[in-house]
Amino acid sequence: MISVEQALERILSYVEVLEAEVVPILDSLGQVLAEDIFSSINIPPLDNAAMDGYAVQSRDTDVASSESPRFLRVIDTVIAGSISEHEVKPGTTIRIMTGAPVPKGANSVVRFEDTDEAERKKSATESSTKEIGILCKVNAGLNIRRAGEDVTKGSMVLKKGTVIRPAEVGVLASLGKSEVKAIRRPVVAILATGNELVDINQPLPMGKIYNSNTYSVAALVQRYGGIPKILGIALDSEDSLVTKLRQARNADMLITSGGVSAGDYDMVKDVLAKEGEITFWTVRMKPGKPLAFGTIKGVNKKGATRNIPHLGLPGNPVSSMVTFELFARPAILKMMGKKNLTKPTVEAVLGETAVNTDGRRVYVRAIVEKRGDNYFARLTGPQGSGILTSMSLANGLVTIPEDRTELKAGETAQVIMLDWNEEF
Ligand code: AMP
Ligand code: MG
Repeated sequence: MISVEQALERILSYVEVLEAEVVPILDSLGQVLAEDIFSSINIPPLDNAAMDGYAVQSRDTDVASSESPRFLRVIDTVIAGSISEHEVKPGTTIRIMTGAPVPKGANSVVRFEDTDEAERKKSATESSTKEIGILCKVNAGLNIRRAGEDVTKGSMVLKKGTVIRPAEVGVLASLGKSEVKAIRRPVVAILATGNELVDINQPLPMGKIYNSNTYSVAALVQRYGGIPKILGIALDSEDSLVTKLRQARNADMLITSGGVSAGDYDMVKDVLAKEGEITFWTVRMKPGKPLAFGTIKGVNKKGATRNIPHLGLPGNPVSSMVTFELFARPAILKMMGKKNLTKPTVEAVLGETAVNTDGRRVYVRAIVEKRGDNYFARLTGPQGSGILTSMSLANGLVTIPEDRTELKAGETAQVIMLDWNEEF
């Protein structure tokens, strides 16, 4: 038996970071930036108003107060997107809207609230809008956003290796970039094996079950940024397996489920040995002890042969999801150029005792809640590896170490978070 860490290390040693591609910025969400991004413009491009108000020469306001307003002649109005052709000279002002470029001559903006504009509006006559009373002194630069204060022309704005989040998509757009160079997403071929399986759009004959692994695995691939390529179901026969495996030739990774436990071990092993290389591991974990790892022969875009990593997950629906999270997820993230490959973990107080009967590392499906400063975990109920609804109830996996026969209620346990409630 090998440990979870040993299995992961071997898997990761087989997967490589993929090459970069040019993608529309919105499609790049979750990908890793493959170039440094420099700005060819200042943001904002010009000094502009941070508030709706009046652009003034600050000296003009030196003696202004609400008791004794300083009256200025209004010579123009400038709205965002336009430029005033007038210049603010002593004794004059230009009405200005947020985002509009500050007119020549002005060095600060007085907010509407600090003028008598509201008063004047009550008795709106033409002459009343031709001047404005300033009610307080403003310092030079007040309510002005400086050109280049966010981004200066020529500077590096985003670094190669950055994970592209919504904020980065926005920053790229603010620079006027519609496309970006990012490490491409892996295409992950997904194959279910088993004579008992029926696809979800078919009626269910006696003795058969629906193929759920393909869909839970495809959803996981998608969640972590890969592109699932569904190959469907292979029967437990050499012909069927070979045919299906060959459809994975263009993928970046193959994930199979089922056929790795003792029962059907040999047939899958033989077929995979012909199509590539395979090692069957028993990993010291539960659920998910049997795991296969190897490579199959494939081709790249240019037609050259290459080895595609193959991860053979156990067939049980819970086991395939848990082993995916532990082994396939980091492999996909590595291919995408990500550096942080671990799921977030919290320490949680157990609401009930969790047992470990056979000296493996046990991952127990749990519901984690935060109360005050602490996390609390209770179990989802029956923990059989066929009980897929337990995964639906769970948001975390309580880890019982190999050398512990139980973790008692009230003890603190490490919990791998599958989801954060905040995200929903
Ligand atoms: P195996 O590893 O092939 O022996 O499968 C172990 C258990 O998982 C059996 O009960 C299978 O019926 C079940 N199983 C295997 N593949 C799938 C699948 N794609 N969807 C749902 N259950 C499956
Ligand atoms: Mg099977």
